[in-house]
Amino acid sequence: MPVFLNARDAGFEEAFQTLLSAKREDSPDVDATVAQIIADVRARGDAAVIDLTQKFDRLSLTPATLRISEDDINAAAAQVPQQEHAALALAADRIRAYHARQRPTDAEWVDETGATLGWRWTPVAAAGLYVPGGLASYPSSVLMNAIPAKVAGVPRLAMVVPTPDGVLNPLVLVAAKLAGVDEIYRIGGAQAIAALAYGTETIAPVDKITGPGNAFVAAAKRRVFGKVGIDMIAGPSEILVIADADNDPDWIALDLLSQAEHDESAQSILITTDASFGQAVAKAVEKRLETMQRRVIAGPSWRDFGAVITVPDLETATALSDRIAPEHLELCVADPDGLGAQITHAGAIFLGQWTPEAIGDYVGGPNHVLPTARSARFSSGLSVLDFVKRTTLARMTPEALRAIGPAAETLATSESLEAHGLSVTARLRKLNDG
Ligand code: NAD
Repeated sequence: MPVFLNARDAGFEEAFQTLLSAKREDSPDVDATVAQIIADVRARGDAAVIDLTQKFDRLSLTPATLRISEDDINAAAAQVPQQEHAALALAADRIRAYHARQRPTDAEWVDETGATLGWRWTPVAAAGLYVPGGLASYPSSVLMNAIPAKVAGVPRLAMVVPTPDGVLNPLVLVAAKLAGVDEIYRIGGAQAIAALAYGTETIAPVDKITGPGNAFVAAAKRRVFGKVGIDMIAGPSEILVIADADNDPDWIALDLLSQAEHDESAQSILITTDASFGQAVAKAVEKRLETMQRRVIAGPSWRDFGAVITVPDLETATALSDRIAPEHLELCVADPDGLGAQITHAGAIFLGQWTPEAIGDYVGGPNHVLPTARSARFSSGLSVLDFVKRTTLARMTPEALRAIGPAAETLATSESLEAHGLSVTARLRKLNDG
């Protein structure tokens, strides 16, 4: 059974703390294996990647077949029904339009001393996209990772996807093509992350790696961080729905289940101002679970980690929501905009009862790669900003150097950095002499 809490009850605070700190993920100790795999790929390049792909994915490759050819991509595209092509194309267009608005702008100004200051944004030179496991992979995730990189202007986008026994969902290749991915390799796991980070004879190294994966992929991303940038280490999905009684319990039940069906460790929480509405939603969830295809995943998620919390008012709901800092937050209330404005910590907010979270997973436009495990307190979903970096600019005039140089000399002296101070002094002398 999910937990039923009431914010008015005496033991509520303790029970809510338990809910917040519940450990939902088993992280098996894979780090030693991953360290060995990375070392092997660094030492032996393609040969190591080929051996490891044979071992873990039961697939024989050569340097020439590591990369998926244009012909293979076109053949896969031909298998995909027109309706799926069209849906992916609609999603790609909307995701591209949304992310185009995220491009940051350069700045330059002259300050009161005459110094010109500013910054300039430039894309990373190459990004690597990890797409997990063969058939189980999500074409929508390909779009969500690749499109922001392309919008940022990344000139080279390399994708890796394991194809266990050579099997691959063709829609993944269609999505990659639509998103503008430049190279696709049929490899996965820690060996693929190592190949992207360090390069091999066939695969040129990238500067940033994004995309979800299993514990081996996550451990490898942690290990190569520093050599390359990474997006985040994403945990199991979460949804929090704040709903008043003026909703169809079945709609809210389906929204809760839409995250529960991702993973047995996913968490779905309802906060409501009406206890009997909460009971009605829980009942609707159980009814849906009787027939849902993915009930073996959604059932344990809901029963082990689900929660229904009754609150006296929406202010209490907002305060609890900020403490949960959910990945996805749905506001099914009369004034979602007003309530949404009160929320500070959430990866993505879905406003009003006509905005099921699933719209955001596919076609809304915003990114579906979002911070989990309360990390929305300090981080954001994947965006164009993950694929650009900022270079600062400064140009002194003689007058500007005269105005601010002496303070630099003083600070350099106090830090005992002689050459720092002298580099300013030498110029100021020239100005004073000249
Ligand atoms: P995966 O691609 O992450 O991992 C497969 C690879 O793991 C294999 O190619 C192999 O190299 C490696 N591996 C497996 N067993 C190993 C072992 N014993 N030693 C060393 N390496 C080993 O695919 P997966 O395993 O199916 O996991 C997919 C993960 O991605 C799941 O956790 C799933 O929840 C997540 N996922 C997330 C999204 C998303 O968009 N957020 C989408 C799909 C999947």
